[in-house]
Amino acid sequence: MARVDLRNLSKHYASAGIKALDNINLTIEPGEFFTLLGPSGCGKTTLLRTIAGFNQQDFGEILFDGQRIDTMPAHLRNIGMVYQDYAIFPHKSVADNVAFGLTMRKCARAEIEQRVRSALNVVQLDGLGGRMPHELSGGQQQRVALARAMVINPQILLMDEPLSNLDAKLRIELREDIRTLQRSLGITTIYVTHDQEEALVISDRICVMHGGRVHQVASPLEVYARPATLFVGTFVGTMNVLGAFEPGTDGDVTVGSCTRRLAAIASQRNVTLGIRPEDVVIAPCAEDPDRPDRDDDALRDDDAFALPSTVDTVTYAGREAWCRLTLPGDIRITAHVHRPDPSSLPKPGQSMTVTLPLACLHAFGADGARIA
Ligand code: ATP
Repeated sequence: MARVDLRNLSKHYASAGIKALDNINLTIEPGEFFTLLGPSGCGKTTLLRTIAGFNQQDFGEILFDGQRIDTMPAHLRNIGMVYQDYAIFPHKSVADNVAFGLTMRKCARAEIEQRVRSALNVVQLDGLGGRMPHELSGGQQQRVALARAMVINPQILLMDEPLSNLDAKLRIELREDIRTLQRSLGITTIYVTHDQEEALVISDRICVMHGGRVHQVASPLEVYARPATLFVGTFVGTMNVLGAFEPGTDGDVTVGSCTRRLAAIASQRNVTLGIRPEDVVIAPCAEDPDRPDRDDDALRDDDAFALPSTVDTVTYAGREAWCRLTLPGDIRITAHVHRPDPSSLPKPGQSMTVTLPLACLHAFGADGARIA
């Protein structure tokens, strides 16, 4: 169980003119399940491979428990690695695959047998040591890769999209097993994925990356509820972006025909407002929504924008539904309906009142950083 410190790490691929890592500073605590999350090309794999020693950084340091390891060759770093494509030897049996790292370290035969048996037990492959990889399912092959990585008792475990090649059901099953196993062994784990749902369910903390930079490091809950940048808000989960606004000196903002006060963004320039679909409240609108005398509680609520809208599409998916609507100013918005009653779902073309509670709005400045 090691603590990992990454200090000022930078990596530039001169041939491609790309800064893959731009001054990365991170601390991963002992025993933590830490996930690097971001879109394709954001630098996740480069960072993982640099920690493993397969890439050389241009600048910066990597420390395990306070000791520099970036000057050591990869095979001396005491790291277990699991890849997307399993990378197990096709011509070796399951047991020989798992034994590989121990054989390289010249462990005694009896010790190798005992540790391989124990590792196969941990990944629930008891009794399959004699099989060849082609006699296993994809999920079982990935379990072999996991056993092979862990059998050497590494200081840290690095996992590069280990579930990407599995079908949806197996992915969920194996991710739960990986998490249980990681907790029971207490091994510091750095996990790479571009799948935000996977990151949310499996991690202690998530590091969201974009363009070689760290945008946010926080718990799954914090990343989802208080995204540090507009990019994080739109990449992790869904966020309706209402557009860019110029609030007044007292924070007055007008969305469509509705003006409300958002004191936290008073006097800011070029503020982007966003809201999660599950925070958007929709209700049938019996009358013309533009009539000033209409009797509608939502339109009198000072704590929310209340806007007339027209339903564009409704997608029913059993326990949930997604309703897409257009607001004044041609703002498109999606509302999530939990446990919808199919008989009362809105229909395309129907007029609805959309309520956007001020407390649920996310505000980002011109540079994309969160303001409120
Ligand atoms: P993915 O999810 O697609 O694997 P990633 O977030 O892991 O993406 P990296 O593989 O780290 O991203 O790549 C970061 C950037 O560096 C990308 O723009 C990529 O094209 C570039 N890159 C990666 N490896 C090299 C290389 N060996 N030479 C030149 N450019 C590279």
